[in-house]
Amino acid sequence: MNVGAWIGLGANLGDARAALRVAVRALAALPGTRVLRVSSLYRSAPVDAGGPDYLNAVAELDTPLAPLALLHALQSIEQAAGRERPYRNAPRTLDLDLLLHGDERLDSPELTVPHPRMGERAFVLLPLAELAPGLVRAEQLAAVTGQRIERVEQDWVGF
Ligand code: AMP
Repeated sequence: MNVGAWIGLGANLGDARAALRVAVRALAALPGTRVLRVSSLYRSAPVDAGGPDYLNAVAELDTPLAPLALLHALQSIEQAAGRERPYRNAPRTLDLDLLLHGDERLDSPELTVPHPRMGERAFVLLPLAELAPGLVRAEQLAAVTGQRIERVEQDWVGF
């Protein structure tokens, strides 16, 4: 049975917009999976990290993949984008986070869902609120107003 899953996408190296477009296409190519909607593209300041600004977006999937299978698929897409991890929070060509997977709640060393830090990050909350206002609380948005982020482009990817 398929469920709704929400993916956070980010990139801040090279042609970040192109990397995110490739990633959305790769999500749409996962077994049995459809990309239902993709948010606008946002530009945000790095959180707890240096390097160039990030481009971010959120995608809504309809997928038969279980949470861990989906996480592993996200990691394969990241690898294919040439992500290297020389140190923690290093700049990255592509970062994919599993934000929500239906009503699932998981807390294992490998996977925590809902994503443990999604509620503190403007670059997740704003694009998520654009697509699904009911999933984001006003207090959460109020708490991230200090984080620099701007919406830069609508309809930036076809899938
Ligand atoms: P990051 O470097 O921020 O992409 O973190 C990747 C690590 O976080 C991996 O080792 C994952 O196993 C772990 N992780 C835990 N929960 C999640 C999640 N909801 N989405 C993506 N990665 C997760």
